[in-house]
Amino acid sequence: MITHQIECLERGELDKMVITVEELREKISIFQREARQNVDAMARYMRHRLGEAIEIVDTRPTCAYCGDPFTAQRKTAKYCSTKCRVAAHRKGNE
Ligand SMILES: [Zn+2]
Repeated sequence: MITHQIECLERGELDKMVITVEELREKISIFQREARQNVDAMARYMRHRLGEAIEIVDTRPTCAYCGDPFTAQRKTAKYCSTKCRVAAHRKGNE
């Protein structure tokens, strides 16, 4: 459990924890389903709480329009949202 790893880090039993955003999302979902939507907030919280002791690697694709990382519903997805897809399409047609 991720909470156990955090406790170990705080007690100094672990030197460092490296986790990808996808792993973080997976681990959060085990005990707190609603937190899956808040993975970015959780990542910020963990960085704040653990500082140098945690490295969160974001392997998600980034939106071709706004540049934000997003969790793709399909492998071919280029945009984070319909809003960005539409905006990119409009820009391309101008
Ligand atoms: Zn976007």
